[in-house]
Amino acid sequence: MASYANGPHDLGGDCHAWLLPEGHWGESNTGLVRGNGESLLVDTHLDLAHTAQMLQAFSALTEGHPIRTVVNTHSDGDHWFGNQLVAGPGVEIVASAAAAELMTTAGAMELLNMWGREDEVGDFVRTVASSFDPSGITATPPTRTFSGSLDLDVGGRQVRLTEVGPAHTPGDVLVHVPDARVLFTGDIVFVGAAPLVWEGPVSRCVAACDLILDLDVIAVVPGHGPVTDKAGVQRVRDYLAYVETESTARFGDGLSLEEAIASIDLGPFSDMVEHERIAANVLNVYEELDPARPRADRLAQFAHMAHLHKAASTSSRDSVGGDA
Ligand SMILES: [Zn+2]
Repeated sequence: MASYANGPHDLGGDCHAWLLPEGHWGESNTGLVRGNGESLLVDTHLDLAHTAQMLQAFSALTEGHPIRTVVNTHSDGDHWFGNQLVAGPGVEIVASAAAAELMTTAGAMELLNMWGREDEVGDFVRTVASSFDPSGITATPPTRTFSGSLDLDVGGRQVRLTEVGPAHTPGDVLVHVPDARVLFTGDIVFVGAAPLVWEGPVSRCVAACDLILDLDVIAVVPGHGPVTDKAGVQRVRDYLAYVETESTARFGDGLSLEEAIASIDLGPFSDMVEHERIAANVLNVYEELDPARPRADRLAQFAHMAHLHKAASTSSRDSVGGDA
């Protein structure tokens, strides 16, 4: 994946992105939309230090245009755990009702507890999120929820929220600024890394991409990775459709989940990092095709990916050793 700069990116039309390279696990993007005398913030970061750094850097833009609205695109911690640093009187925190159900102390602890686990999942989380510090986080949930769509007025500018979940998670929301032709997608779109279907079904993620492809937008800020355009969205859609087709064929051939995961050749998508997400994505297809299969919870999904991640890093270490 091409490298890109950490920090602020001017998207035009008084819209701004704050990017965390390389867009890997936890390295999420945030955004700022300025209107007359107020601003809207899209998402916060996984920990307090990264959120504070973003807010500090945006302070030159928010002076005279204070943040009055925060929109959390979905319920994963890397998009709302920093909310406590912007919450307060006169600040509305908006999310879909489906996302808000998970944005609780218990919901936050589910992820935070994984950091301390003495098993493959704990090793995985500590490895992939090593630049984040989970201490001091107080779950700070939305103060306003909606279902379907919601138009916000941000100092005279329209910002349109469209619920596309369940897809990546139960309550994903797109944030569209029509007058700037800018879209913040949350984790419906990843650039550089493989997309990840926690909730699904995969067809809902494909439908969310199709909805984006129909919008009049020129700048697309993904949940992770560099700013893209519709070509980047198309690539996510193509990956999802490919994985769904390949998984469905293997299910039909009677392959076990593990056999299906091991045998899928990602071909044109093999350059996408976070390869281990294939495990969760194939699992999601298998669950849809076999309703009797018990649904894996977040811990079980992480366990599948952690196992694949460990197997891949062990075999690459072995091959390095073998060559030496
Ligand atoms: Zn994310």
